[in-house]
Amino acid sequence: MASAGLLLAGGCGHAAKKDARTAGGTAGRQMAARQRPAPPPVTQKPPPPKPVDCDHVKCVALTFDDGPGPYTGRLLDTLKAHDAHATFFMLGENVHPFSGLVRRMVVEGHEVANHSWSHPQLTALSPAAVRSQVKRTQDAIATASGGVRPTLMRPPYGATNKQVGHAVAMPLIMWSVDTLDWRYRNAARNARVGVNEPKRGGIVLFHDIHKPSVDSIPKVLEGLKRRGFTFVTVSELFRGKPLKPGQSYSESVPPAPPAAPSSPAPGSPTPTPSTPETGAPTTAPPGTSAPESPTPSPGASTPSTPAPGSPAPESTTTGPPGGSVPR
Ligand SMILES: [Zn+2]
Repeated sequence: MASAGLLLAGGCGHAAKKDARTAGGTAGRQMAARQRPAPPPVTQKPPPPKPVDCDHVKCVALTFDDGPGPYTGRLLDTLKAHDAHATFFMLGENVHPFSGLVRRMVVEGHEVANHSWSHPQLTALSPAAVRSQVKRTQDAIATASGGVRPTLMRPPYGATNKQVGHAVAMPLIMWSVDTLDWRYRNAARNARVGVNEPKRGGIVLFHDIHKPSVDSIPKVLEGLKRRGFTFVTVSELFRGKPLKPGQSYSESVPPAPPAAPSSPAPGSPTPTPSTPETGAPTTAPPGTSAPESPTPSPGASTPSTPAPGSPAPESTTTGPPGGSVPR
């Protein structure tokens, strides 16, 4: 009698309680307890990974412009293999033919961002035309990605001014390292620049529509990882530092480390003699360290690095910085 009742109790906690009462005595209650149904399987997803704090971690944001294209899928494979997140500044006109890749970017933790519809120089367009370039691309990315609307825009050629900033009405993301991959089309060179140039808090510009650029990324990731970098999206890089619509940003300089004590604290490890990238704000203007760069990158005329999260000075450029045509 009791055993039949306990068998029934297996599927339902309420029945088990009732049966324990009817079976009577301590032994019955113990049996009921032993046969209590197992807790339901955990169906909850694990919590998302803890966000990276780029004030304390050596972060860099790799960005890929002008795609998506035929090599973007391979690039996503490479990024996945290295557990690296990147930001894709896409052209609206390229989104539909590769909409599956746009969806994949979002699913795999990358940031999708706006690079205009057809890559015009926005400073040569009317505000209405600029708005159209931006909106059509926003809509295309939202449709392809399953509803994600970009929050960041990179004007083609980095060309902007007050009027463009006002019309775009999104933060304008420039770069601190221009790999000039679109010009040299050489994977070994791209890898060398991509590994050696970035500084902490930097934004690195590549183009995933060129095969040598995508070919170089495994070496870039390995080299930067060796240098201690964590790969984040642009929004992750600026987390906690609100970006203003229409303002330009080319890097996120982490706060200066606290002044080093005159003597090491007891038990603390001996400080290493030099860690050039950690903490110290860069003093060289972005882009000037690229030996191959025949022309300065945007921001090269900036006398000093902006404060953390502060916008880059308003560009007075009305054309492509340095006259480069990154396509
Ligand atoms: Zn571009």
